[in-house]
Amino acid sequence: MTPPGDDNRGNFDPLVAEGSEPAFESWAVSPERRRNMQANRSRDTKPELRVRQRLHARGLRYRVAVRPEPTLPRRADIVFTRQRVVVFIDGCFWHGCPEHGRTSFSRNETYWNPKILRTKERDQEVDGLLTSAGWTVLRFWEHDDVDAVVSAVEVAVRGVSSDGRVT
Ligand SMILES: [Zn+2]
Repeated sequence: MTPPGDDNRGNFDPLVAEGSEPAFESWAVSPERRRNMQANRSRDTKPELRVRQRLHARGLRYRVAVRPEPTLPRRADIVFTRQRVVVFIDGCFWHGCPEHGRTSFSRNETYWNPKILRTKERDQEVDGLLTSAGWTVLRFWEHDDVDAVVSAVEVAVRGVSSDGRVT
């Protein structure tokens, strides 16, 4: 059974629909698409693509889904190698966002799902490893305002934001 209108978002391409949808929607999609995103949850989620798109538009160049340090247990979403700035856009569900992690999937999975707890512990471990290796770690939620994220990243990389936002 397919709800009315579901066809319109099954194969949504975030790169071509900039600004037309609410920023926080990455897992409000078809079950098939959701499974696919769970498998690839550290990259190519819609909020991350939007951030990348706007960073690129501001002339920033970066690497995607690489390990800033070879021993790191997780790939980083966006990496500025020369400036030693690393950016994570964390999915609200898998990383246990206090605003959305608890309620959105409460039907079948609880907030204190052990898998989510492990993810949160690993996030902290990753932050510690990177920080002690001299990286600036920026971690955002996928629900965060894209413009604010982009400005914060630009400030970290360039020391200034091109849109004049104070972050
Ligand atoms: Zn959230």
